[in-house]
Amino acid sequence: MAKAEAKNVTALSSSFNDHIRPILDAVDRLRQLKVMQEGIELPTIVVVGDQSSGKSSVLESLAGISLPRGQGICTRVPLIMRLQDDPYLSQPQLQLEYKDKTIPTSEDGIADAIASATDDIAGSGKGISNTPLTLVVRKSGVPDLTMVDLPGITRVPVHGQPENIYEQISNIIMEYITPKESIILNVLSATVDFPTCESIRMSQQVDRTGERTLAVVTKADKAPEGLLEKVTADDVNIGLGYVCVRNRIGDESYEQARAEERKLFETHPLLSRIDKSIVGIPVLAQRLMQIQAASIAKSLPDIVKKINEKLSQNISELDEMPENLGSMGDAVRVFLHMLSMSKESLRRLLIRGEFDEFPDDASMHATARMADMLDQFSGGLPSDCPSADERFLMEEIVVLEEAKGINGLPNFLPRNAFLILLRRKVKDMSHGPGEFVQKVWAYVEEVVIRVLLHHSENYPQIQPLIRRASQNLIGNMRNHSLNFIRETIEMEMAADYTTNPDYLKKWGELMGGHDAFTKNYFGQSSLVLPGFGEVDVGHLRQYAAMAEQAFDMRMRIMAYWKIVVLRLVETVGLHIICSVNRLVEREMEKELVGDLVGPRMAGLERMLDESPATAAKRERLRKSIELLKESKEVVAVIMDRVVTTIK
Ligand code: GDP
Ligand code: MG
Repeated sequence: MAKAEAKNVTALSSSFNDHIRPILDAVDRLRQLKVMQEGIELPTIVVVGDQSSGKSSVLESLAGISLPRGQGICTRVPLIMRLQDDPYLSQPQLQLEYKDKTIPTSEDGIADAIASATDDIAGSGKGISNTPLTLVVRKSGVPDLTMVDLPGITRVPVHGQPENIYEQISNIIMEYITPKESIILNVLSATVDFPTCESIRMSQQVDRTGERTLAVVTKADKAPEGLLEKVTADDVNIGLGYVCVRNRIGDESYEQARAEERKLFETHPLLSRIDKSIVGIPVLAQRLMQIQAASIAKSLPDIVKKINEKLSQNISELDEMPENLGSMGDAVRVFLHMLSMSKESLRRLLIRGEFDEFPDDASMHATARMADMLDQFSGGLPSDCPSADERFLMEEIVVLEEAKGINGLPNFLPRNAFLILLRRKVKDMSHGPGEFVQKVWAYVEEVVIRVLLHHSENYPQIQPLIRRASQNLIGNMRNHSLNFIRETIEMEMAADYTTNPDYLKKWGELMGGHDAFTKNYFGQSSLVLPGFGEVDVGHLRQYAAMAEQAFDMRMRIMAYWKIVVLRLVETVGLHIICSVNRLVEREMEKELVGDLVGPRMAGLERMLDESPATAAKRERLRKSIELLKESKEVVAVIMDRVVTTIK
């Protein structure tokens, strides 16, 4: 009977070697390539269990080597154990890998090597860490399995352990057992009541139905009573079933331990009643390999998908990264390209009014925003000629009084009086255009800088230069505009001049009230006049002829004022359009080239030295792409096999 079992296991194992082994090799290869770092989960057997339930002992039994065992928590970091069967090895080969280190070790030295690597990772106290340690065991006859041993769950911190040890450990365990790809190997001691196990509670949180949980019951030798009933009752929903084992005790060798185990389950009056298909380490090894292979086969399509996604994501990220500039020629080329891209963007925003680059950002819809500003500016100008004196014609009369000469005829309208009045009024509103151009340039500066920074985002080292050059540039443009405004205002104050027919038209309308005024202002206290409505005129009686002159002047200046305001708005508007055009088409390039290329190309030189962060990112992406490509090949080779091997 026992012989038949053993033979069966060997037969399974040889068919396993033919078919499943290549898949495991591939997955192992993926693991070596560290695809997990790329966020791709590989099927893993995760060993969980309460403290001292026998986790390390089970792993020992599977690997046929001795692991640190003892009181308190010995397993303080996740230990990834990769068992690889190598029939041609006469001696087992062991090595530890962690933090980029590879430490060859031996069967005798393994316990110490793990202990000191653990100290290295988690400190020499009783603290724990989630940085894993990998133990590779190549040995003849060992099952091909990759398993993770995790710190055991403990409710109460022992002396020297951090207070939150329970939370720390559960976090690590959760991290490993949550992914659907994980197979949970729940280690339960036969000496305890299963439903009270902390590890059962945790695995049920992530695998309620138990479909990816296998239980291994240790210490069968210590509590044989009722064990059969416990595993048949399955009070704790173990979907993949139970395997009862007896691990190495004391100083037994691996072979002795297996012989004792066999004997125990064959001869013990209670234990021998348990079905042979669920007892012993060889059965456990076989079950685990089958489960692992099936799980891998199931996950492969998903792994392929994830590798492809990650690969194309990284490739496009690398494509979008700035070029690494090797020479001054490269820098000049990239800089000029950047400049022409920026110029085109600004042309669209500031001149043509095409906003497809910033469809949802109204603050960048520059032609529209500048039109708003111009509207606001013209709306803020007095469209009707303002008067400094509320009383009808009194402002005019005061000016006329001052302007009268000894040689002028009393009813002759002195031109200088008109000009005095005009200058005063133009001056009163002259701050408006100045404020307007300040505002427009401040806005244009924002747009220009934003566009330039956007197009130079890959070269942050020259952005301060670009910003400064833009500020200088806009500063010059602004000064130029302010000079222009000053000159425009000066022109308006220098003379009264227009050929616009609207002037005469408006004046004619206003003069429609002339006769009524001259005839009646003397005798009446108020009059209705075109363009004014009803006005008080009583106070004019005393000014006689001067009131008539004042009336005449008032009507002229009112008609002329409309012309002045319109001319100002149009001139300033045209000036801004023209200046912005000049900025985009000529000045920006001149300034930036002058500043960044300059006589010694100092700015461009900066483009050549890449920031360490960018260099590191590029390197990381390159490595990751290489790795993913290799992973893709590895997976492609086995995909066909899987389809035919595992149903
Ligand atoms: P871990 O904390 O879960 O890793 O548990 P260990 O593997 O360190 O085992 C705890 C103790 O239980 C050790 O003293 C082991 O020798 C003992 N032990 C483990 N498995 C068995 C078993 O099957 N039978 C007996 N008698 N003792 C065992
Ligand atoms: Mg342990």
